[in-house]
Amino acid sequence: MTYDLIIIGAGSAGFSAYKEAIQHTDNLLIINDGPWDTMCARVGCMPSKVLISSANQLHDAQTLEKVGIKANVQVDTSQVMNRVRTLRDSFTAATKKQADSWKAEHKINGKAQFIDAHTVQVNGKTYRSKSFVIAVGSTPKINQEWQNELKDCFLTSDTVFELPHLPKSMAVVGSGVIALELAQAMQRLGVNVTIFARSKQLGSLTDPNLQELAQKEISKELHILFETLPQQVKRTKAGVEITYGSNTITVDYLLNATGRMSYLTTLGLENISTDYQDIKKLPLHPQTKQLDKFPIFIVGDAYPTLPVQHEASQEGKLAVQNCFEKIQSITSLTPLTITFSSPEMATCGKNYQQLKNEKIKFITGTASYEDQGRAKVLGKNKGALKIYANPSNGIILGAEIFVEHAEHLAHLLAWSMTNHATVDTLLEQPYYHPTLQESIRTALRDLKQQIQ
Ligand SMILES: Cc1cc2nc3c(=O)[nH]c(=O)nc-3n(C[C@H](O)[C@H](O)[C@H](O)COP(=O)(O)OP(=O)(O)OC[C@H]3O[C@@H](n4cnc5c(N)ncnc54)[C@H](O)[C@@H]3O)c2cc1C
Repeated sequence: MTYDLIIIGAGSAGFSAYKEAIQHTDNLLIINDGPWDTMCARVGCMPSKVLISSANQLHDAQTLEKVGIKANVQVDTSQVMNRVRTLRDSFTAATKKQADSWKAEHKINGKAQFIDAHTVQVNGKTYRSKSFVIAVGSTPKINQEWQNELKDCFLTSDTVFELPHLPKSMAVVGSGVIALELAQAMQRLGVNVTIFARSKQLGSLTDPNLQELAQKEISKELHILFETLPQQVKRTKAGVEITYGSNTITVDYLLNATGRMSYLTTLGLENISTDYQDIKKLPLHPQTKQLDKFPIFIVGDAYPTLPVQHEASQEGKLAVQNCFEKIQSITSLTPLTITFSSPEMATCGKNYQQLKNEKIKFITGTASYEDQGRAKVLGKNKGALKIYANPSNGIILGAEIFVEHAEHLAHLLAWSMTNHATVDTLLEQPYYHPTLQESIRTALRDLKQQIQ
């Protein structure tokens, strides 16, 4: 028997691939290793945002004096962690319910491995298919030595949400989006956090001015050791002893948040071609996500353009269309990233570094929030916005934002970019007063003056 399609992985990408696939055929299979509730709901987007929400609400309550209110608030971190898990369980239950409603004969639990370009093996049995969507996602990179040494004092984003209550102190190794979000939330919930950052980069911003501003602002509340990594990590009676340079600190836990590793390496792709030993060199089409000339498409975090949930879902759906219809680009969305730090970071369209790397000519419109009306009213007047535009026709190319509620501004700008907005067309839009959206107009006016 030969299936029309086999989907490997039932995360965000695999779920949307399956929902699309059943519109095309009943002769399909979805294979998943592990729970059928998606990484996003279980240990990713959702529990992290619940934790961050508690942390930010506590922080706001503890800093009410700046808006003229005195309050005495206390935190019970076991209640906070209970809430994280209770909400997480409701999100995973909803996802699992969907998978439970799929036909039993469509689903297999187990780890798939390719035998050749049309055959996979699962639990010792082989399955043939005309085409494949690979949506196997990724797993946290871990330092094996540290994990062996520290045992239960070693955490990753997969295990951190299981803490019954929060500890007194924690070292976070990494300064990317996941590291920053978790570190700042922990700090705001009363954990004494030290970040070890390999480089001088925090979160997702690539614009040097905004990156500098973010480092300055976030360093006010978080102890960040830039360009510093632990040299020695030891489990002692007091906890985790970390040596760096001539310094030693002792913390309760070490959270390893140094990025994620694709599960593609476990799929036996080398059985399709011996050239596929190194997944960094896979002949994968950057737009269609097709593997060489095979009817195989790789989507989501397994080989991400952007490792974010909405891209994984979109790619899963469109990759299925590529299996059944004409092969087309599946990377059609305007890029959008949000870091739920405080202030939030967001990028949309092309970021500063991409414009530079691709040698694209651009002008920059800037708006600061220091003196911005609405930001001052809210008591959140920190950060800035940069909009990048084509210097001759004013087409908006991208933006980077560092401010509270950047998520809303970023969506507006991303949607405008999808509609090929220019400085002039955006300046013709209404801007209600006083709102954070007025900062977009300030940056656009700055751009308008520079257009040749
Ligand atoms: C802490 C954290 C916070 C995040 N926050 C956000 C956020 O706020 N917003 C956002 O957009 N994104 C966020 N992300 C990223 C987002 O979660 C991912 O981009 C998205 O979930 C990826 O989906 P996926 O389908 O590619 O992979 P996954 O959901 O990981 O699914 C892959 C599935 O494939 C299975 N699998 C692996 N190997 C095999 C095999 N050989 N055979 C069969 N099955 C296999 C896995 O077990 C898994 O079930 C966050 C991630 C983390 C870790």
